Amino acid sequence: MNCSFCKSKSYIVLPYLKKGFCKRHFEKLMHKRFKKNIKNLKMLKKGDKISYKISKKPEDIFLKIMLEGMPYKKSNKGKKVISEFLDILSEKFIKEIFSGKWPKFKVNEKTLYPLFNFPYSEIEAYLKMKKIDFSGDFKTNELLLKVMKNRPGAMFSLSKWWYDKDN
Ligand SMILES: [Zn+2]
Repeated sequence: MNCSFCKSKSYIVLPYLKKGFCKRHFEKLMHKRFKKNIKNLKMLKKGDKISYKISKKPEDIFLKIMLEGMPYKKSNKGKKVISEFLDILSEKFIKEIFSGKWPKFKVNEKTLYPLFNFPYSEIEAYLKMKKIDFSGDFKTNELLLKVMKNRPGAMFSLSKWWYDKDN
C-alpha cells in the first residue's frame, strides 16, 4: 500500500484507519494526534508548568519529543504528564474489570495521559524511523493483541470512553 496522502512508499500501514503512511505523513499524524489530545481534552494551556519523566524507555523519549517546541514550562511543581500509552492503559483497565473493580485512573487536571490513544507499536515505529535509541521493550498482553488485531479500533473506543467519562 502506498501513502494515502502523497502516493509515495508507505512506511507503515494502520489497519484501523485503512490508510498507509510514508515517513513524513506518519510523523505528521503522531504530532497531530498528540496536539489534538491536549487541545480537545483541554489538558494544557499555553504557559502551563509541566513535569515529566526523563528516561531511556521508548514512551518517555517519545513523550519528550512530542512536547518539544510546545509552549509549556518544565517544573517539578507542574502538572504531571504521564507517558503511559494505549496498551498499558487498556491492560490496566481490563485487569480491573476482571477483578470486579471499576477501573480508576487518576485522570484529573493535574495528572495527564496524552498518550492514551497511542499504541506501543506506533511509538516504537516512530523512534525506529527517526533512528532514536531506546532501551527496553514492551510486550503487549496476548489477549489484547488479539482484540487489536481483529477489531483494531476497539481499544481506541475503550480508551476514549474512559477518558471522556472521567473528564
Ligand atoms: Zn505521504
